[in-house]
Amino acid sequence: MAEVEGVVRGDRTPRRLVIVLGDQLDPEASGFDGFDEVRDAVWMAEVDEESTHVWSSKPRTAMFLTAMRHFAAALRARGRTVHYTALDDPDNAQSLGAQLAVDLARLRPRELVMTAPGEWRVLEQIREAASAVGIPLEIREDEHFLCTVKEFAAHANGRASLRMEYFYREMRRRHGILMTADGAPEGGSWNFDAENRRPFPAQGPGLVPPRATFPPDEITRGVLPLVEDRFADHPGRLDSFAWPVTRSHALEALTLFVDERLAGFGDAQDAMWPGEPWLWHAHLSAAMNLKLLNPREVVAAAEAAYRDGRAPLPAVEGFIRQIIGWREYVRGIYWTQMPGYIQRNALDAHEALPDWYWTGETPMACLADAIGTTLDNGYAHHIQRLMITGLYAMLLGVEPRDVHAWYLAVYVDAVEWVELPNTLGMSQYADGGLMGSKPYAATGKYIARMSPYCRTCPFDPVKRIGADACPFTTLYWDFLLRHEDALAANPRMALQVRNVSRIDADEREQIAQRAEAVRMGAV
Ligand SMILES: Cc1cc2nc3c(=O)[nH]c(=O)nc-3n(C[C@H](O)[C@H](O)[C@H](O)COP(=O)(O)OP(=O)(O)OC[C@H]3O[C@@H](n4cnc5c(N)ncnc54)[C@H](O)[C@@H]3O)c2cc1C
Ligand code: SF4
Repeated sequence: MAEVEGVVRGDRTPRRLVIVLGDQLDPEASGFDGFDEVRDAVWMAEVDEESTHVWSSKPRTAMFLTAMRHFAAALRARGRTVHYTALDDPDNAQSLGAQLAVDLARLRPRELVMTAPGEWRVLEQIREAASAVGIPLEIREDEHFLCTVKEFAAHANGRASLRMEYFYREMRRRHGILMTADGAPEGGSWNFDAENRRPFPAQGPGLVPPRATFPPDEITRGVLPLVEDRFADHPGRLDSFAWPVTRSHALEALTLFVDERLAGFGDAQDAMWPGEPWLWHAHLSAAMNLKLLNPREVVAAAEAAYRDGRAPLPAVEGFIRQIIGWREYVRGIYWTQMPGYIQRNALDAHEALPDWYWTGETPMACLADAIGTTLDNGYAHHIQRLMITGLYAMLLGVEPRDVHAWYLAVYVDAVEWVELPNTLGMSQYADGGLMGSKPYAATGKYIARMSPYCRTCPFDPVKRIGADACPFTTLYWDFLLRHEDALAANPRMALQVRNVSRIDADEREQIAQRAEAVRMGAV
C-alpha cells in the first residue's frame, strides 16, 4: 500500500476505527469525539469510483484529493494513526465499500465510528461493508450543520408545502442571528432580496477585489499530475487550480472575503459579466462543504462586519440567508426525501444532455462563458448555474438524472446533499414544486437584462422564431406550450400561461418546429 507523504500506517488493531470521507475534513467533527490517540485510528481512502460514478471533472477530483492529503498530514501531526489508501496504490480496491471491506478484514477494529456522510450511496456502501464483517458501526450526528435532519423533519411535518423563507426565519430566531434585543429582525425586515437583483451598470462591474488564491504546494503538486494522468479524458482543466485546501487557507479566504467583498455582495448578487467568474461572491462553498470551515464561523464573521459598520445590512442579510437558509434547507430536503428523490421527474423530461455541456463549444455566448468558467475553475456562480446552464437544460427537457450527473461532476463544491436538491428541485422543477413554488422559466430577455452576453451573441433574445431566434426564448415558449395544462394549475404561473393562450395555431407550430431544430442541434 502506497504511503502518502506525512501519513503513517500502524499495524496495531485499533479499538475504534474512525472513517473520514473526503468531505469530512474537520478534526473537531463528532466522529472524533472520545478519540484515543493510542488505541484508536483513522481510515481514509482515495478511490477511482468517486471520480467515475459521475464523470468527475479534474478540478473537482483534485480538490478532494489534495484536501484529504493535507488533512491526513494534519491528523498525523496531532499524533493520530491514519490508515490511508492512495489512489495509485496497486492494492487499491477502487471503491469505498470494497476498500473498507479489505481494511476491516486486515485491521479487525472492535467498532467503526463516523460522522453522518453527505451522500446516500456512500452511506449504503459503508453500512454494507460493516455488516458483512459484523463490526458495529456508529453513525454520529453531523454537528457541522445548524439544523439536524430531525429538526428539519419536525419543521416540515404537517406543512402542505415547504418554503425556504419560513425555515430561514425560524433559523434566524432559533440561533439569534441578525436579531435585535427585542426579538425582531435586524433592520425591520427578514429579507432584503429585492435590493440584491440589480444588473451591473453598462460599463461593467468595475474593479472587483481579487479572490484569495493559494498556489499549489508540494502536496497539491503531487496530486495535480496524478489526476491529469489518471483521468486524462475527464472534463476540466487544472492549470489555474488555486483553491483553499487546508483549514488555514480557508480561514484566510474567509477573512479576505469579509474584509474586501462582502460589502459589495448584495447589490449585484444575480448579475453576470463575461470573463468575470468571481465577482463579489464568496467562493467558500467548497471550503464549507469539505468542512474546512464551519458555517457558524462564516455567519459570525459576516454578522460582525455588519455590527462594526463594515458591510451594509442588505449584503450581510443576503449572504447569511444563503448559508443558514438555502444551505441548511437543501440538506433537510435531501435527507428527508432520499432515496426516492433522485428518481423524480415531474415534467417527464427525457432528452439527452447536449455533448457541448462537457466542452463549452457552443455559439450561445452565455452558455459558452458559464460552461467555460466551470471547466477552467470548477466554479460558476449561482445565477450562472440556475439561470444559464440549469435553465437551458430544463427548457430543453433534459432527463433530470443526467443534469444531476453533470452538476455533481463539474463543481469543486459538489456533494450530493447540496447539489441534488439544487439541481433536481430548484433548477429542473423535477420534484414538482417541493423545493420551489414554480419552475425558474425565463426567456433570453432575462439574460439580456442581467448581463451583456447577448451583445456578442449571434442570436436575438427577443425573437422566438426564425433562424436567429435565441434558443432560450424559443425553448421557453415551447416549454410553456408543452406544459400548458400542468402549469395552468399553478397560480404563480398564471400570467405566463395566459400569455401562451394568446399565441395562434400557426405561431405555435413555428415555435414547436424551431424548438425541435434546436433539440436536433441546429445551434
Ligand atoms: C443547479 C445548481 C447546482 C448547485 N450545486 C451546488 C453544489 O454542488 N454545491 C454547493 O455548495 N452549492 C451548489 N449550488 C448552490 C450555489 O450555486 C453555490 O453554493 C454557490 O454558487 C457557491 O459559490 P460561492 O461560495 O461563491 O457562493 P456565494 O454566492 O458567495 O454564497 C455564499 C454561500 O451560500 C451558500 N449557498 C448559496 N446558495 C446556495 C444554495 N442554493 N444551496 C446551498 N447553499 C447555497 C454556499 O455555501 C455559498 O458558499 C447549486 C446551485 C444550482 C442552481
Ligand atoms: S441571445 Fe440567447 S443564447 Fe445568446 S447570449 Fe443572449 S440569452 Fe444567451
